Amino acid sequence: MALFHSCPICRSRIPHFVPLPRYYIDKATEHGFAYGVDEFETINHQAYSCPNCHSSDRDRLYALFLTPVFQRLNQAQPFRFLDIAPGRSLSFWLKSHPHIFYRSCDMYMPEADDKADIHNLPYADETFDFVLCSHVLEHVDDPVRATSEIRRVLKQNSIAILMAPICLSIQDNYENPDVTTPEGRWQHFGQDDHVRIFSKPGFVDVIRRSGLAVQEVPVSEFLTPEVCDTYGIGLRSVLYLGVKQQAVQQEPERSVA
Ligand SMILES: [Zn+2]
Repeated sequence: MALFHSCPICRSRIPHFVPLPRYYIDKATEHGFAYGVDEFETINHQAYSCPNCHSSDRDRLYALFLTPVFQRLNQAQPFRFLDIAPGRSLSFWLKSHPHIFYRSCDMYMPEADDKADIHNLPYADETFDFVLCSHVLEHVDDPVRATSEIRRVLKQNSIAILMAPICLSIQDNYENPDVTTPEGRWQHFGQDDHVRIFSKPGFVDVIRRSGLAVQEVPVSEFLTPEVCDTYGIGLRSVLYLGVKQQAVQQEPERSVA
């Protein structure tokens, strides 16, 4: 156990990270949600947020993954980065890199650069060198169409970080069109604004059906257990990357809706 911890986003040295607020666990339990927080991948609920900048463990995971990516860039060329549904601390960190051309979009957040529906992004084909889409796809009507839009706006051979809550106790994604109330969504999906629960194979399948190649990157492939402890990253964390590959390009599925 480290004597002190550190946040890679605000760079503060802190005695400990703050646990996930009881509110979410209590609400889900109160409504009879069937799964515990430990059954979900990539959530360090005991060391969840930074007491200084309020970054979550997944925000810190993305910053630690992206740091060497940004260091390898040719700074003479603009690197266009799209952040879908931006989080405050991570967007501040991303914008602090002078060679990153940062753009954010969201349907509702006034602080986002562009108001946009992820099913129909307002950007030309092959605009971005990198897309971050974290904890969005569990909220949207059609996650395959949303991911296909991400694929469309990515340049060839570019990468998206695609993340959502993944329940390790189920084999298939779970949706239920009869569940339409906030109470029902707490009970069935574990949060009042979620419309599905992803399983691990089901989430990978959504990315594949969009036409992106999937890379699963366990945190152990790029951080040691000691570094994870210092930065408050769970050892079971897994990053999902969608790669737009020319060689194995497939046509994305088109929904008829
Ligand atoms: Zn911080």
